[in-house]
Amino acid sequence: MSNIAFIGLGNMGLPMAINLAKAGHSVTAFDTVAEAVAKAEAEGIKAAPDAASAVADAEFVVTMLPNGQIVLKVYEAIVPAAKAGAVLIDCSTIDVESARKAHAMCDAAGLLSLDAPVSGGTGGAAAGTLTFMTGGKREAFDKASAILDVMGGKLVYCGEGGAGQAAKICNNMLLGISMIGACEAFALAEKLGLDAQAAFDVISTSSGYCWSVNTYCPVPGVGPQSPADNGYKPGFAAELMAKDLGLSQQAADGTGQATPMGARALELYSRFLEEGGKGKDFSGMIEYLKTASRA
Ligand code: NAD
Repeated sequence: MSNIAFIGLGNMGLPMAINLAKAGHSVTAFDTVAEAVAKAEAEGIKAAPDAASAVADAEFVVTMLPNGQIVLKVYEAIVPAAKAGAVLIDCSTIDVESARKAHAMCDAAGLLSLDAPVSGGTGGAAAGTLTFMTGGKREAFDKASAILDVMGGKLVYCGEGGAGQAAKICNNMLLGISMIGACEAFALAEKLGLDAQAAFDVISTSSGYCWSVNTYCPVPGVGPQSPADNGYKPGFAAELMAKDLGLSQQAADGTGQATPMGARALELYSRFLEEGGKGKDFSGMIEYLKTASRA
């Protein structure tokens, strides 16, 4: 069993830290919100007064934070405080550039590091079935696998530092685009008087099939249970989709790659958020599209 530091006990981090503690690891945690730390303590996790103290004895350090700026700020505190041989694993979804900076800080200090963003949402975090997309040295991946296995159902080694974040934002850009496509198809079907079940039966078994239709259909009462059947309660919040689309556009700007559909998807999700989408699942886009003007 290992000594693990966990920093960032939010919607994702808390259940992930709890799974590590339940598996018998000694987990010491820190969050800037006292309430989050208290919830962790109630689950047998030790509380640390700050991030640097949390990592002092840790063989593995897991961070699950809102964005790249915060991750780098926390790394400034924990990299000098980490003990020799520790592996730093950042599971937050952040921009590729910040992820590479975090790796460089660890390299300079002789520490191993991984960027390891996840998919699977809060349900996957609680169930320990997340998918981890990882970037960093093979040695870091091999050492961290046993820890990641406790929190996840699938680990993918994507390549050098930043490769995990690259995989995550490319996947989520495609997801954002495909969900908008699914919403448009079902909204148009309705306007054409086509029954939603008939539309689903055809699309889900024809060339339009995709995860956004077959697994996560944005129309209530059609296909497997999805947030559409629950008033578009997330699920995967529209805010998080907009965040990930923003990261993909940042990467597209940085590399000079044209991603016109990704750019449009970000625009549409931003508009959806301005017009009632806050706090809704990203598949709630269909409600926005049904009322949006064609201009
Ligand atoms: P959250 O806002 O619920 O949690 C973030 C936590 O970090 C909060 O508890 C906050 O207090 C803490 N924090 C902020 N600054 C800190 C600091 N300087 N030191 C210590 N703690 C600090 O967010 P979340 O939903 O848990 O998401 C975390 C990360 O996982 C994000 O990068 C998000 O994009 C990603 N993600 C989320 C989901 C999801 O469904 N929620 C799915 C996949 C990936």
